[in-house]
Amino acid sequence: MDNRRTFLKKSGLLLTALSLPIPNILFAEGKKKLGVALVGLGGYSTYQLAPALQQTEYCELRGIVTGSPEKIPRWQEKYGIPDANVYNYENMHEISKNDNIDVIYIVLPNSMHAKYSIIAANAGKHVWCEKPMAMNSKECREMITACEKNKVKLAIGYRLQHEKNNRIMMKWAETNPYGPIQNLTAKAGFFSSNPGWRAVEEMGGGAMYDMGVYPLNTSRYSTGREPIAVSARSSTSRPELFRQVDETMEFTLEFPDRITAHCRTSFGENMNNLEISCRDGYYYLQPFQTYSGVKGGTSDGKILSPMGKNQQAVQMDDDALAIINDKPLIAPGEDGLKDIIVLEKIYESAAAGGKRLEIQSL
Ligand code: NDP
Repeated sequence: MDNRRTFLKKSGLLLTALSLPIPNILFAEGKKKLGVALVGLGGYSTYQLAPALQQTEYCELRGIVTGSPEKIPRWQEKYGIPDANVYNYENMHEISKNDNIDVIYIVLPNSMHAKYSIIAANAGKHVWCEKPMAMNSKECREMITACEKNKVKLAIGYRLQHEKNNRIMMKWAETNPYGPIQNLTAKAGFFSSNPGWRAVEEMGGGAMYDMGVYPLNTSRYSTGREPIAVSARSSTSRPELFRQVDETMEFTLEFPDRITAHCRTSFGENMNNLEISCRDGYYYLQPFQTYSGVKGGTSDGKILSPMGKNQQAVQMDDDALAIINDKPLIAPGEDGLKDIIVLEKIYESAAAGGKRLEIQSL
């Protein structure tokens, strides 16, 4: 992309190109869509991202990185991926030589996000990384630095920030149609009887890392504010499964203007709702976090109907367009970092029995 911009600048075509509709710019480049390589062919890549990449307008699935050779033939056959675009974790850095790949999407267990995002950035490719961004704020900062150094963009896979009704929550945080926001409740969890790496501490397991980032991220964008204090309690009702990590985390976020968010996440309960109480009314999304069918309503009877589009396709097209047009991302690395700073405080508070901890300005 940088080469293309330099070329356009030099040839005096930049202004003309920027005034064209986007498909024409892409056409002018002779490369219609950005090529995406998925790293880690587990559940989310297989059942959500690869199918969504069949619906995207501005990017497409062109490569895979996997540690499981037996998965390769199925993926190559299903998605027409050539041998030249197949990598493993040891040779992934060689994508630097592959002009067909523009974006590397990290869809690995949480403990592997930082390492492979940095390899991707150092290969000179744009990085999309799944939530939670990384294990801790130090890793997040290292990822941001690697992307800045290599002049590539870093997007976090916060699909809800691209979803229509969650975007209405963001807008209403600014416009306050029901008066100032007073309280918020956000809950996301599901019953898991086979958590795998999600129950292993060193892999980044725990309900808070996995599902808890949804209530946390949503509380931030639905209030349009950053938390100033937190208190949290973790619990485990099935110690045989969740010996190392939190099965359930309950946390309260205090925001400026006396707004409080009550949040809960769990691997032991099915829950999925967001409620926002304001001075003159309320509004809610239920479910607020599912892959499809996010819907809700308001105290005066407005219905917030589902978006009716594939969330991940919308997310990846938004992120692809931000790269193509060199515009800001909706959910950049800095947003993922803020959540991880708060998440660190949440774990610290839970370890201290629910102690209220202040958060330095985010
Ligand atoms: P899975 O366990 O289903 O898949 C992870 C994949 O990572 C594996 O299949 C494997 O792929 C690769 N991998 C490499 N090393 C290991 C290892 N040591 N242990 C386990 N897997 C390894 O996880 P998900 O796909 O559900 O989750 C991946 C990421 O995506 C997580 O960060 C998760 O939080 C995020 N996610 C986001 C969602 C969203 O809605 N935004 C929804 C679901 C997940 P291979 O065999 O190809 O090497």
